[in-house]
Amino acid sequence: MEITKLSSLILPLTILITLTSFVLSQHNGLPTLDIVSEISTDPDDTSLFATDFGNLSKSTPGAVFYPSSPNDIATLIRFSYWSPKPFPISQRGAGHSTQGQTFVPDGVLVYMPSLGRNKSDSRITVTNGPIPYVDAGGEQLWINVLNATLKHGLMPRVFTDYLYPTVGGTLSNAGISGAAFKHGPQISNVYELDVITGTGETITCSREMEPDLFYGALGGLGQFGVITRARIALEPAQKTARRVLLFYTDVELLMKDQEKLISIENDLSGFDFVGGQVLLNKAQVSRMRSSLSDSDLEKITRLFNETDGPVYLIDAAVYFNDTTAASVDQNIKVLLKELHYISGYAFSFDMPLLNFLNRLYYLEVQLTPLGQWLVPHPWLDLFVPKSKVLEFDSRIFKGILKGNNATGALLLFPMNRAKWDDKMSAVTPDEEIFYVVSLLWTALENNAQTLTDANDQVVRICEEYSLGCKEYLPHFTNQQDWERQFGNKWGKFVSRKKKYDPKVLLSPGQQIFTPLE
Ligand code: FAD
Repeated sequence: MEITKLSSLILPLTILITLTSFVLSQHNGLPTLDIVSEISTDPDDTSLFATDFGNLSKSTPGAVFYPSSPNDIATLIRFSYWSPKPFPISQRGAGHSTQGQTFVPDGVLVYMPSLGRNKSDSRITVTNGPIPYVDAGGEQLWINVLNATLKHGLMPRVFTDYLYPTVGGTLSNAGISGAAFKHGPQISNVYELDVITGTGETITCSREMEPDLFYGALGGLGQFGVITRARIALEPAQKTARRVLLFYTDVELLMKDQEKLISIENDLSGFDFVGGQVLLNKAQVSRMRSSLSDSDLEKITRLFNETDGPVYLIDAAVYFNDTTAASVDQNIKVLLKELHYISGYAFSFDMPLLNFLNRLYYLEVQLTPLGQWLVPHPWLDLFVPKSKVLEFDSRIFKGILKGNNATGALLLFPMNRAKWDDKMSAVTPDEEIFYVVSLLWTALENNAQTLTDANDQVVRICEEYSLGCKEYLPHFTNQQDWERQFGNKWGKFVSRKKKYDPKVLLSPGQQIFTPLE
């Protein structure tokens, strides 16, 4: 973009001055990297990034930066860092946050997927040795990482339920799903990172090399740097998933069974994926139409007439290939015998593993033409210590949410804390087993505020009854709440911020630190 175009900017004055002086300095033969042409303040561009998947609020960035290399990002950050008027910078992946975590109204949004736009540089490299891994650009979507690794008969060990967030986006949180009980979250399956810090320095880090930045960046909510490459552990790919859905009306039995399944570690007869859901209403049952037949759905719907409370389910899967297929029937039979689901309420079916891993994409394809995908999503994700799940269930699912008719999936499944690395920034409850509770509301009927209020009430109840919940994909607007969220990790989090982003430039949309004046 030329200076003439810059002058017509709606860009806030500080950025305008600093970028213009950057252009001038180029003319004086000082920094010569041409990144200015990659910055746009055109409302047609900036308006594309004014909201996120949550669709709950709007905030247009001052400018959008389309880097063609990690070096371009380093240049932009260095420029802001050394400028007399530093401006905030928000690295945005796929924008699948729900609470404005990538917003940067007075600064520059770095559109990470721009890094992958040069097709000759795929930025995904698979190494198939004794310890296989993939080096993936931070901007890469997980679906692309999966497709690239499958070509080598390999795949990452843990995915999120949706494969269209970026590598950098999920690693800045944790990256969880029903597979995390076995391998830990995605952040536990990373060997190495390239991170551009808030001073513009590019650092390669791992458990051995610059470990402080490595542990800080994983789960670091984008506060310490921009992840431009991650080396991710791989395992042999399987071909098929046998999905098993088991229904319960007794939450204690559900938990007992889920915990049994997640304790069967590294055992070929065990499940590879152990998830779970809470169904509050019959409409949520009908959303399972893609997995179950009409008669099965009717049968499950009848459970609501027979019980006063919610219906729960285990959503589990075993992955296998042609050579292991024969043993799967027998193994699952043995496993199911030991579980306590309602007799006659076990359903199982096979599907290509890729379809299982990519199942939310099929939902997206189904809901988009109905206008039901890009609607407001007031989501709340919590980690609840095992000892408090029954109380949570009775106060929330059987309490304030009883009879709730809203649309959306409500998840409930356990994790093994031993699979998380406490040195990383990600926060969990203290107990060895904790549960993921996700209220993934879809506001179809102008009810976003009502659902947001319900979420706030859930959070208040967690506090009032000291349920020890931690938020996942957290959203707070004041530092006291952040301090409470991080607990004994807060001091370390603050000192890392001072070390790696001393001018508080990066990812301001998280609202953890106050930008410097
Ligand atoms: P963005 O929303 O673009 O950014 C999120 C944060 O990460 C921002 O603070 C941003 O500044 C920072 N960031 C982005 N890229 C980088 C980078 N390269 N380096 C450093 N910081 C960066 N999460 C789960 O764990 N499990 C699930 O099963 C799951 N399912 C989901 C299903 C759907 C339909 C959706 C929409 C989201 C789901 N998520 C899930 C949440 C998702 O993983 C997070 O919101 C994730 O951060 C989104 O990645 P993104 O690339 O869209 O990040």
